[in-house]
Order: sequence, then structure tokens, then C-alpha cells
Amino acid sequence: MNFKRLRFLVMLLLVGACAPGVLGMGVAIAGEPVFGLVIHGGAGTITRADLSADKEAAIRADLGEALDAGYTVLAKGGSSLDAVQAAILVLEDSPRFNAGHGAVYTHAQTHELDASLMDGKTLSAGAVASVRRVRNPILLARKVMDESVHVMLSGDGADEFAERSGLELVDNDYFGTEFRLQQLKAAQQREQIDAGSMHDPLQFETKLGTVGAVALDQQGNLAAGTSTGGTTNKRWGRVGDSPIIGAGTYANNASCAVSATGHGEFFIRHAVAHEICARKQHAGESLRVAAEHVVLRELVTAGGSGGVIAMDTEGNVAMPFNTEGMYRAVRMSNARLDILIYKD
Ligand code: ASP
Repeated sequence: MNFKRLRFLVMLLLVGACAPGVLGMGVAIAGEPVFGLVIHGGAGTITRADLSADKEAAIRADLGEALDAGYTVLAKGGSSLDAVQAAILVLEDSPRFNAGHGAVYTHAQTHELDASLMDGKTLSAGAVASVRRVRNPILLARKVMDESVHVMLSGDGADEFAERSGLELVDNDYFGTEFRLQQLKAAQQREQIDAGSMHDPLQFETKLGTVGAVALDQQGNLAAGTSTGGTTNKRWGRVGDSPIIGAGTYANNASCAVSATGHGEFFIRHAVAHEICARKQHAGESLRVAAEHVVLRELVTAGGSGGVIAMDTEGNVAMPFNTEGMYRAVRMSNARLDILIYKD
């Protein structure tokens, strides 16, 4: 075995020994750029007791498929932006995640979807909020980025832009599932008993399943994206952090790429995604220290539950969360594939 191969194996062992949730990668082999992606499928109360073996297997399969879709783009030399989009597309089409088909219901028993994307090389970004008709909101966010002079479009106007851009439109009930309908009914029953509960969207943990991805391509460029149906029983056009650049999504080659999931109001107030990147860039913190500080200290102190996935241009990865679980998966060119749900 030559020295290069031996060194690679030692690196793999070291990566494998890292604590789950925070992988310290960044082990580029001379001449071979590190590339890869991380995805999430939401954070919240996910315990082994709650998740049946069948459901867990289906979720793992979806995460694996999304990871493959994104990784294939990267392995062929494609851009991190295309990889993020490809991974999120798979999860939007799965009924098991709160994004696209499978999105949670609003108070009026409809669906209003939010999504965003950001390119770390150019700082171009695209976002949509409260869209009701475009089948894949992440594709519309991309159109906003590539084909409009704006960063964010919302509501009917955004759907109209989708139509003009030639994206597939669907009836609003395409997004619904029986599972999400039951969650809405339960939330509305609770609301009748306790009127204050509607101000606490995470109280019943019924929003779980927002999806997101961050990627680093072979050219060394970062990208991030997030897509969600928001919170069950939301009303008055409520918009969370997911479509807000700097809160739920951020990417900058000078610092890092982040996609968040959790109680959106807190992620907006703490500008979570940008804050992690800013700590790394300006305070010189490592990706892991910056991400853990914001998620495990700042948000915990404030009472905001959730987590993030983050990556930098060296291929370091951080995936801290302050909930019981977070659906997450990582595949790097220099490390093994990992699909994780629980803390341990
Ligand atoms: N952050 C999303 C929102 O507040 C929900 C989630 O991530 O579960 O809309």
C-alpha cells in the first residue's frame, strides 16, 4: 500500500471517530479537491419510540435518494447550486417532508410554501414566500435568482412569475396528505382549549420536516438552500425563516453555507445563518465553534428550538441541533456516507 493510500485510510478512520452531529472533515488529499453535500429534513421531537421501523426506513431511503441526487451533480463537476437544488427537489416530492408534496396545512386548510437558495461565489440569491401553486418552490427560487432582478417574491405574484417562467403548476391540494391534515385538526383542537397555543407554532411539534441542503463543489464554491411548508395552522400570511436570506439560508465562499430548521421566529431574530458565517469570518471561529455557539447557546438561551447544517470551503461540516433529533445526512468525497436521525 502506498503512502498516499495509507494516509487516506487513516483520515477516513479519524473522520469516522468524530462525534455524530459534528464531523471535522477538511482532509483534502493533495491535488484532489474535497467536495460533497449535507442535507436536513427538519429538527424536532424525533424519538425512537415515536418513529416506526417502516417510517424510519422510508425517511432514510428518501434522505439517501436526495443525497445521491446532489452528489451525482457534484461528482460530475456540476455546481454546488445545482447539487443543492437537486437534493431539495427529491425531498419536496416526497410526502414525508414538510416541503412541496407533504407540506403542513395553514389555518384555512390550504398550503403556503416558502423556499430560498443562495450562491456562495456571487452572493446571488432567490427566494419565494407563501406560494400556493408552483409544484416545486425551490425551482421558483432558482428562477427568481437567475431570471429576475429581485431576491424575493411572494404570494400570487410569485406564482404568476412561476407560470411565466414555465414551471409546473398544481392545484393547492396536491401538497396535502392525510397525516398533515390530522396534525392540523389536532392543532386546531388544542387551540380551542388554549387560545394562546396558536402563538406557539412549535408547541405540538407538528411542523417537523422542513428540508435543506448545503454543498461544496469541485471548483470550491459553496451554496445553500431551504424549502418548507412553514408551521401547521399558520395564518395571516405568516412567513418563517426558511425563505429569508441570512436567517434560514446563507452562503458565502468567504465564510460558509448554512441551511436552518426550527422555530422560524427565533431564527429570524437571531439572523442565524448569517450569524454563524459572520462569527467564522470576522471572529475567526471554526465552523463548528460558530455553529454550536449560535444553536446550542444563543438559541437555547432565547428559547428557540431547531438546528442547522453548515459547510465551509475546506469541506468542514457542522450539524448542531438543540432538539431531540434532526433528520440529516452527509456525503463527502473524502468520507463515508452518513444518514443520522437521533442525537446518539
Ligand atoms: N423554520 C421553519 C419555519 O419556521 C419550520 C421548520 O424548520 O420546521 O417556517
